[in-house]
Amino acid sequence: MITDNLIAGDPSGKGSEVVNSYDPVKRERLPESFICATEEEINKAVEEAHEAWKIYKNSKAPEKAEFLRVIAEEIEALGDLLVQRAMLESGLPEGRIVGERGRTCGQLRLFAELLEEGSWVEAIIDEAIPERQPLPRTDIRKMLRSSGPVAVFTASNFPLAFSTAGGDTASALAAGCPVIVKAHPSHLGTNALVAEAISKAVVKCGLPGGVFSSIQGSGHETGQRLVQHPLIKAVGFTGSYKGGMAIVKAANERNEPIPVYAEMGSTNPIFVLPEKIKNEAKTVAGQLAVSVNLGAGQFCTNPGLIIVENCEGLDVFMESMKQEFQSLEAATMLNEAIYKSYEANKQDIIDQNHVNPIYNEENENTEWKGRPAVAKVTAKAFVKNPVLHKEVFGPFTLVIVCNDKAELNEVTLAMEGQLTGSVIGTEKDIETHENLIENLSQKVGRLIFNGVPTGVEVCHAMHHGGPFPSTSNGKYTSVGTDAIKRFVRPVSYQNAPQNILPDALKDGNPLKIWRKVNGAITKD
Ligand code: NAP
Repeated sequence: MITDNLIAGDPSGKGSEVVNSYDPVKRERLPESFICATEEEINKAVEEAHEAWKIYKNSKAPEKAEFLRVIAEEIEALGDLLVQRAMLESGLPEGRIVGERGRTCGQLRLFAELLEEGSWVEAIIDEAIPERQPLPRTDIRKMLRSSGPVAVFTASNFPLAFSTAGGDTASALAAGCPVIVKAHPSHLGTNALVAEAISKAVVKCGLPGGVFSSIQGSGHETGQRLVQHPLIKAVGFTGSYKGGMAIVKAANERNEPIPVYAEMGSTNPIFVLPEKIKNEAKTVAGQLAVSVNLGAGQFCTNPGLIIVENCEGLDVFMESMKQEFQSLEAATMLNEAIYKSYEANKQDIIDQNHVNPIYNEENENTEWKGRPAVAKVTAKAFVKNPVLHKEVFGPFTLVIVCNDKAELNEVTLAMEGQLTGSVIGTEKDIETHENLIENLSQKVGRLIFNGVPTGVEVCHAMHHGGPFPSTSNGKYTSVGTDAIKRFVRPVSYQNAPQNILPDALKDGNPLKIWRKVNGAITKD
């Protein structure tokens, strides 16, 4: 395993500072010391990325598609070594890591297909109308083009699928942007293995080395330097609100501000409607408890708020929640800081006025295991107290009890922007809560019916990005093929000669992609 930074394909360890990751199960520092990148090394990574971009941005779709597929093959070729390392550094079980690897490789291959299909560039052609009165129309053609080197901050909670070769990297590389990954301090070894796999793919595909680099750091300075480098053109981030906003601030303070696509956290409200509670209280409680405790609750889509209306069967629902949470098993959290902040943030909510625990395991453990808990509060108290709106990252959820439909709506309107919002109800429930559903749709990026938010499908129609503060820019998704749109910008060509135009905009449609020509969608 390479413990140096990997800069444009070459190991580089000029610094004297080192950083180690931890085994969260044994709570032990791991022996490999990873060398932190110096300012000079960060600059070199970005300059190499910029040089590589000049070539890589013009790579044809089949070349980029092949590159993404070779990355997937190289990751798979790491076999059990990668799985074991990711388990060691995250405490996550084998099944979860194997699944994440499948998702990582699957999304690389999905982007390859997207490139081959080609219409993602949104080619639009308005041909000249020289005879138009009172003024002629000139020829104007527009498409999306790659924006330049991208900095990627990897996620602690997805060591593979949202990390070194995860959605941000895959979408940026697909867009024609070189990537510099800032490794997450929790999984440096996993990062090193995947970074090496990507670098091998760069060589195999004959691409310039600067298309991919990976740097390590022992504090915020490394990431800050990367974001502030003038040749970085966009940032992908998944993590805390505090970290995300610090990066947004750094990006805005540059001479040339750049977009930061930060996914920062969400409480993912679930509304369980009256008829469903009356008919299926136990089943729904079971479904919710499993979703809250999945992956020790360390998902950005973890259901942190459950909203119910005072109705027949509510007592059965509350009792079932208690029993279901009692039967859950505490699992090891990703690292000590996440474990400690879970316990502190959970307690902070439970200690608020009008909050009553439904189930809260009191016995402390000396391990970093997140103890599942559920509490309840009135709608009035929730609306008034912003502390209760905060994400508790871990297996905790707060049930908000509303007196009536009006309070359901008040709660919805009081909520901040969310990645997801779910409605669990019968057909009649849904018909009689249209207003609530409309209000909820204004607050979320994904509206789910009769399901839980955990488990985000990687597909073309996915939108994983809600209004602020769940993300820094709710217009864009970090999951699914539309994630590519974060790393491109539209360019219009006015009256441009054919030989200057990119192939996607040329007469005769040489790429045979879907385009909009004079207002009509066509492959002609
Ligand atoms: P984090 O503290 O935000 O860190 C994420 C990445 O950003 C790391 O690489 C970190 O590296 C870097 N970073 C953090 N603050 C920075 C700053 N001021 N300037 C530059 N870089 C900075 O997130 P985390 O370590 O993954 O987890 C901490 C908390 O984040 C969790 O307890 C949870 O509340 C939340 N979280 C949310 C999600 C989600 O999906 N929304 C996912 C994971 C975690 P350095 O520390 O080395 O600078």
